Amino acid sequence: MDFKEFEKSIITDYDAMYYTRGRDGRKLDRIVLHHWGSRGQRFWGIINWFCKWNTYKTSCHYVVGEGKVAQIVNDSDTSYHAGNWDWNCKAIGLECMPEKHERDLHLTAKLVAFLWKRYGKLPVYEHRDIVSTSCPGIWSASEVTRLAEKYYKGSTIKTSKTKTVKDFFKVQLGAFKSKKNADKYVKQLKEKGLDAYVISTETGKGKKTPVKSTSKVDLIKKGQKALGVNTTGKMNKETKDKAIKTLQKALNKTYGYNLAIDGSFGPVSKNSLKSHYAERGDKNDFVKAIQILLLLNGYDLVVDGSFGAKTLRVVESFQSENRLTIDGNAGFKTVTKLINL
Ligand SMILES: [Zn+2]
Repeated sequence: MDFKEFEKSIITDYDAMYYTRGRDGRKLDRIVLHHWGSRGQRFWGIINWFCKWNTYKTSCHYVVGEGKVAQIVNDSDTSYHAGNWDWNCKAIGLECMPEKHERDLHLTAKLVAFLWKRYGKLPVYEHRDIVSTSCPGIWSASEVTRLAEKYYKGSTIKTSKTKTVKDFFKVQLGAFKSKKNADKYVKQLKEKGLDAYVISTETGKGKKTPVKSTSKVDLIKKGQKALGVNTTGKMNKETKDKAIKTLQKALNKTYGYNLAIDGSFGPVSKNSLKSHYAERGDKNDFVKAIQILLLLNGYDLVVDGSFGAKTLRVVESFQSENRLTIDGNAGFKTVTKLINL
C-alpha cells in the first residue's frame, strides 16, 4: 500500500473535546479496537459527538467508517477510550463502525499497517481484553492483524465484492453510441448477477442527458400529490412550504432532532444536515423527503422512502447537473440545492 497516499486521506480537521496532552511519561506500545456500539450511527455523527456534543468525556485517536478515517487526537497525546488510565497512556484507540463492512475492515487494517510503519509492530487488542465489555462487537483483533500484515508487506489483496456504492457498475452513457446499447450492456451485467445501472451524465458528444422522461409539470404534480397539496404542476409557495416542513419532520423523526416545523429552512435546520446524509441502502422518512424534492426539481422517481439504485442514479444526475460532487450521497450541499426551489 501507498503509505503517503494513506496519510493524505486521513481527515484531520476535527479535534476531540477530551484528551490529555502527552502520554503521562509512558510509551506508546499497543493499539486497541473499539466499535461505536449502535448500528445505524453514521461516521459524521460519531465525529460530531466526539468533537462537539460529548458528555461522557471519552475520546479515541481515530474514527474509521464508511470508507473514511479521521484522526481526532494526536498519536502523541492520550485519548480516553480503554477505561483504564495505564492502557490509555500506552495505546492508540481506534473507533470502528459496528457493522464491520468489508471496506472498513480493510481500511482499519490499512490504518494499523500505517501505524506499524510509524511505530513498529504494535500488538492489536480488543477493548474486551482490558475491561468487561462487549466492545468491539464483531470486530476481531486477530482478523485485523492478519490483514494488516498483508498491507504492511505490500502483498496484493483481493477484496471480496460487497455491495458498497463504489462497487456498483456504473455504465457511462458516453461510452456507447446510444442509450439502447448502454441499456443492453447493463442487462448483460445484470444477467451475470451484478448490480449495474447507467449514469447518464455525459454522452459521447459531451452533452448532458438528464434522467428526465416525463415533463416537469407532471413531475411537480407527482411531487405535489405526495405532499398532499394542490396539484397545479407549478412550483408555488404552498408547495415549497410543505416540502420543507416535510423535510424538517423527516429530520426530526429519522435523526431525533427537534427542529421547528416552520417551512423555513434556517441555520438550525441546515446545521442538522452537516452530520447526516442519505445514501444507498437507507430506508427512512429523510429519504422520502429527498425523493419528493427531487420530483419538484424535475427528476422522476418513485416516492417510497427507500434509497435504491434508481434514487442513487437520480441523485447523481442532480449532483452532476448542479455542479456538486457526484458521490450519490444526499447531504448538506445536495439538500441545500434541492430546497432552492
Ligand atoms: Zn470500546
